[in-house]
Amino acid sequence: MIEYGRLNMPSSRKEQLRRPLAHINLDALRHNLEVVRSHAEGVKVFAVVKADAYGHGMLACAQALRTRADGFVVSTLGEADALRKSGITQRIIVLQGFMNVSEARFAARLMLEPVLHQAWQVELIEQTSLGLPLSVWLKIDTGMHRIGLPPDQVQTLHARLVASKRLRQAPGLMTHFARADEADAAPTQQQLAVFHAATEGLAGERSVANSAGLLSGAARGALGDVVRPGIALYGSNPLEYGSAADLGLKPVMRLETCLLATKSHVQGDAVGYGARFICPEDMSVAVASVGYADGYPRVTPSGTPVAVNGQIARLAGRVSMDLITLDMRGVQAAVGDTVELWGESVAVDTVAHAAGTLGYELLCAAGRACSRAYVSAQDSKPIE
Ligand SMILES: *Cc1c(COP(=O)(O)O)cnc(C)c1O
Repeated sequence: MIEYGRLNMPSSRKEQLRRPLAHINLDALRHNLEVVRSHAEGVKVFAVVKADAYGHGMLACAQALRTRADGFVVSTLGEADALRKSGITQRIIVLQGFMNVSEARFAARLMLEPVLHQAWQVELIEQTSLGLPLSVWLKIDTGMHRIGLPPDQVQTLHARLVASKRLRQAPGLMTHFARADEADAAPTQQQLAVFHAATEGLAGERSVANSAGLLSGAARGALGDVVRPGIALYGSNPLEYGSAADLGLKPVMRLETCLLATKSHVQGDAVGYGARFICPEDMSVAVASVGYADGYPRVTPSGTPVAVNGQIARLAGRVSMDLITLDMRGVQAAVGDTVELWGESVAVDTVAHAAGTLGYELLCAAGRACSRAYVSAQDSKPIE
């Protein structure tokens, strides 16, 4: 789904024939990295590019950040392999780690940094030569209760890893916050306290914060050596409150399509599946070429803003598979005009909130479903 050839060629013929299109602004991505960095002085910033960079295209985003990010974070060895093959030489943390000896060897050979989250992985390192020394992170479950080692095992496992002499350096120590997006900092501070107690006195780098942990300030003064921002880089608000714009973040994805039809209806006309919108007066309704097959959620309710020709129209009635209908009262537009589902005029978080989800999910879904076109004032050449 990564379409290198089209980078910086948004007017290619092929794109005009396919709707909708996700425009990816790599300058905004770089801007957001600097915003993140300004909250993490003296701390390394590892850009999280898992899930195809949250739908923005992993390789293109990694290339755009390669001279600015101190490292990258992915979920799987396969993603890390793709980064290495594309020429990324920075450090890469692999969150889901390895499942067996051959994967551990693969990680060592590619100089990856797998996350260890179960004791058997430490045993595997002790018992098997991996050919090369390995760099690893120990993930500690401080309250998220998803993956991670029980805090009371950390000192022992750390000592065993160091004694194995199979590591490049002392294992990194990391944890992940469950509730850093909430206004109450107490649960995050509780997790930090557990982390500090479990890791006290141990050698190794520390990494605790995702975007929310960093930008909420809940981990201020305790960020350690490496932060792992994801969503903030893509310009969506990591917090439950406020907005991405308040944080100085710029949208990276603009999901755009075109107006396919405009229609005049009379009072009482029902629009779309299930007659969920009844025209309250004689009015104009427009149809745009996008739907749930493109990652625009079916559950998005009537009234959700959609920018048409720079003005705000409102979704009217059910989202179909590849069409939406719009209440055009007060909006001047014609067939062929540009429709922005999210981007600069409508925040992705506004649509996500209306649909009962998060910007993360919309960006991933639209990025998977739609073609992408990359824009950047900085890179005049397409990325190979
Ligand atoms: C996905 C992930 C991140 C990034 O989270 P954001 O909320 O997108 O900033 C950081 N750390 C871990 C362990 C993750 O799984």
